[in-house]
Amino acid sequence: MKYLSRIINSTPTRNHQKASTKSLLLTLTSTILSASLIGAPAQSQSSLLKSNTGSVAGFSVGQALEVRNELLKQVETEGGVLRDPTLNYYLASLGNKLASGTNPTIPYRFFWVKDYVINASAFPGSIIGINTGLMAATKNESELAGVLGHEISHVSRRHIARRYEKAAQTAGARSMVLLAAGALAAMTGSVGQAAVFGAVGNQAQSSIDETRVFEREADDAAVVLLQRNGYSVSGFASFMLTLQKQHLGIGKAPPFLLTHPLPLDRATTLSRVESSGTSSSQSYELAKIRAIGVTNVRCEQINQQQYEYGLSQQYASYWQHRCGSGQASGIGELRNSHWIPATDYAESLYDAGRHNEAMLFIEAALAQWPNNEALIYHYLKSAESSATAINQLSQGIANSLDSGYFSMPDLYRSYANIAQNSGDKAKSAAAFAYHALKTGRPFDAAENFRKAIQIGTNSTEAKSNWIIAINELHSTYGL
Ligand SMILES: [Zn+2]
Repeated sequence: MKYLSRIINSTPTRNHQKASTKSLLLTLTSTILSASLIGAPAQSQSSLLKSNTGSVAGFSVGQALEVRNELLKQVETEGGVLRDPTLNYYLASLGNKLASGTNPTIPYRFFWVKDYVINASAFPGSIIGINTGLMAATKNESELAGVLGHEISHVSRRHIARRYEKAAQTAGARSMVLLAAGALAAMTGSVGQAAVFGAVGNQAQSSIDETRVFEREADDAAVVLLQRNGYSVSGFASFMLTLQKQHLGIGKAPPFLLTHPLPLDRATTLSRVESSGTSSSQSYELAKIRAIGVTNVRCEQINQQQYEYGLSQQYASYWQHRCGSGQASGIGELRNSHWIPATDYAESLYDAGRHNEAMLFIEAALAQWPNNEALIYHYLKSAESSATAINQLSQGIANSLDSGYFSMPDLYRSYANIAQNSGDKAKSAAAFAYHALKTGRPFDAAENFRKAIQIGTNSTEAKSNWIIAINELHSTYGL
């Protein structure tokens, strides 16, 4: 269980090709292609996946994985998806921490949509999207955790699966992929595709008899996740009530309220939830400043926010200058205070072409924030750009990449290029395989793992991990 969770879990990052207008059609084409290649994934379940799924009728793990793979490809290419390693790492850390108690069959994958509209949505295959606008509308981390916990609970309580099962019953299994792809396109703002598929997709997301029951169940489950992680449990309540008040004032409901209706009785119950535990964190405040900054719409909000931490005020000044003008000033001593400004500093060194300096800074920073994938992203980009040889990389980072330890797909693409440029074909193939695995392309993954094993490596640990991966791919997809 652990291993597959690790190898198929992944976090989206930026600097990937943008193909908003073509992506869905490409997705649909590849869906049809892969459908014929997959055969019947519904019947070929991994032994590691069977434990808590064998009894589930209808929407099987195989189907969920199939939809997940299609959606992951879409997340990789969709124009509205935010490619920011810093915010992705923050969201994945918070989301996975909250979800850890739900014992997920398929690991969660979280992504940001760069959009000031307040929205969040869960998709089949344990995929959850959050708009940067929703982050900007929250007042503290417990509110954000409340929304995430609520979406995670829609997945863990099988609300999403049950919605899509209905669609499958009426229109066939393939329609699930189309509906999910349409719903994701609608959320990320691919206007053309959304018009074609979004209406149906939105229907699958929202117009269901069980909505009220689902909403209540998701609230209750979210409260448990918040309590377990020491958050103030009133987070989701206060956020929903803020939205409701705004809605009454403006008259136009944000999409999040439409897909998560809050009837009066539920609002009353939520408002009575006892509040204790922590409500915010330094990381949350910094991530929120960055989320507003990279969305680049309401830059003035950066300094209007109330910050609990002194560091946030300084980071806010940095981003207020950068937001709008696009000019990054010096991050100063902030770079040594928290990993989020450290990524800003690494990014600025990379952008200035000071690649070796960036690598040295990140190696030192990783001693303070070990395995921080946002920092490792900039480390590998710098190594790639400066034509650093694979044997000159930090041994710890290289070993983790050889074994598929990290979640962020882009780390593997950079590493694959570094290995290829250094003439290490086995490690390059394995890195391409991990990248494929984490971006919804199990066939490419299997092909490249086989290639890596065939070429061979003197790292026995890496090789045994590649063999485990190929066995997992075989038992899950019959590859
Ligand atoms: Zn909901």
